[in-house]
Amino acid sequence: MSNKGVMFVISAPSGTGKSTIIDRVLYGIKSLKRPVSYTTRPPRPGEKDHVDYHFISAEQFQLKLNNGDFIEWAKVYDNFYGTSLDYINKELENGSILIKDIDTQGALQLKKALGKKAVLIFIEPPSLKELEARIRKRGKDSEEVIKKRMDCARLEMEEAKKYDHRVMNDKIEHAVEGIESIINGLIR
Ligand code: ADP
Ligand code: 5GP
Repeated sequence: MSNKGVMFVISAPSGTGKSTIIDRVLYGIKSLKRPVSYTTRPPRPGEKDHVDYHFISAEQFQLKLNNGDFIEWAKVYDNFYGTSLDYINKELENGSILIKDIDTQGALQLKKALGKKAVLIFIEPPSLKELEARIRKRGKDSEEVIKKRMDCARLEMEEAKKYDHRVMNDKIEHAVEGIESIINGLIR
């Protein structure tokens, strides 16, 4: 590699544990940076504009899309998400080590755009049954949404074979260690 800039892209079906894992990995490896992406979904309680996401309208998103501002974008559960091309290119040129959860459509676009500078990691739930139990435990979703998420999960799991690495989230500590060792193996 010409310099050490690299983006670790984490995907998993909703409820697998990726937010929990990414928070722990960011805490454990201080040199990692989490890019802030754009979304049309409204902020959840406690979320801050420009910290969790840049929250924008559907019209603003469309304008950015037309301008070619996104290195990747996707529609996920009725909302649009996109990552700034300019931001990622600058950070990678400066040698930043990035980590971000991105859905499977966006992850594959990043691989195409960045080649080896995008390292795709898929986090697998131990089983679909356990995944459903975690979504229920989180207590954020209606019955209808849970069904939608489970249908999506089956399709997303099919994409795992296209990823550079797969890590099982059975015990949270194992998954965090697995991801940290992939990252440390590539950045040290
Ligand atoms: P995601 O970001 O993939 O949607 P979350 O990080 O929100 O998932 O995790 C979904 C739920 O599952 C949370 O309640 C979280 O505490 C729980 N969870 C995460 N990892 C594990 C694990 N290894 N074992 C049991 N529960 C877990
Ligand atoms: P949430 O709205 O719960 O934060 O994220 C919903 C889904 O969108 C998750 O699968 C998450 O990984 C994905 N996501 C978050 N940011 C981006 C992004 O910038 N691009 C893409 N393609 N997906 C994203």
